[in-house]
Amino acid sequence: MANKLVVGNMKMNLSYDEIEEYIDRMQGYQDCIICPSYIYVPYFIDSGFTTGVQDVASYDNGSYTGEVSAKQLASLGVKYTIIGHSERRELFNDTDALIKEKIIKALTNNLKVILCVGETLTERENDQAKKKIADQLLTDLKDIDNINDDNLIIAYEPIWAIGTGKVPSNDDIDEIISYIKELTNKEYHINPKVLYGGSTNDANIKELAQIKSVDGFLVGGACLVPDKFIKIIEAVR
Ligand code: PEP
Repeated sequence: MANKLVVGNMKMNLSYDEIEEYIDRMQGYQDCIICPSYIYVPYFIDSGFTTGVQDVASYDNGSYTGEVSAKQLASLGVKYTIIGHSERRELFNDTDALIKEKIIKALTNNLKVILCVGETLTERENDQAKKKIADQLLTDLKDIDNINDDNLIIAYEPIWAIGTGKVPSNDDIDEIISYIKELTNKEYHINPKVLYGGSTNDANIKELAQIKSVDGFLVGGACLVPDKFIKIIEAVR
């Protein structure tokens, strides 16, 4: 189970003082990929963290109030961007077409992409999980010819598991992750790392880390608490 990737999605959390304290507590654990709010990015980069962001604009530059471009992020030293998180898809109407544009902008500016896919509870109950994920992957990545094993990571995040404390069984996670690997190999001739995300915490990480097909974890809530996040990082080192 050694050397799985750990990505922290801090979402819209923590004040400046809390971020200072967080960075102090995380010294020695900069080998995770941390995705804070944009405003805190320079603090993490200056403290030696591999730093990502939670979203990126689908535009190069110009009059797009509130947006942040891949070019701007790369110029700061940002290495990764999450794209297509279910919260963006649901709350901000990030469609698959828009997600594809964001992926193109990220890759053009040498940001590595962590693309989130996953099914709702209803889709799972109706045996539609694989279909949903295939639809997302076949639209989001269609005709993007510069994706490769290094610049693309897929995160399998069942929407019903995000922030709920509910986690699929290891066998169910393995089945979907293996399916994603087969599909990306068959359709795009690539073998990207595939992460699991959804209520991963310090109590279940040892169990989840047993799943051989899982290349790492995208962690939301538990990454905000250094004691918990450090236990997760240590469990997969
Ligand atoms: C997420 O939102 O990407 C996530 C995995 O959240 P949590 O770990 O809190 O379920």
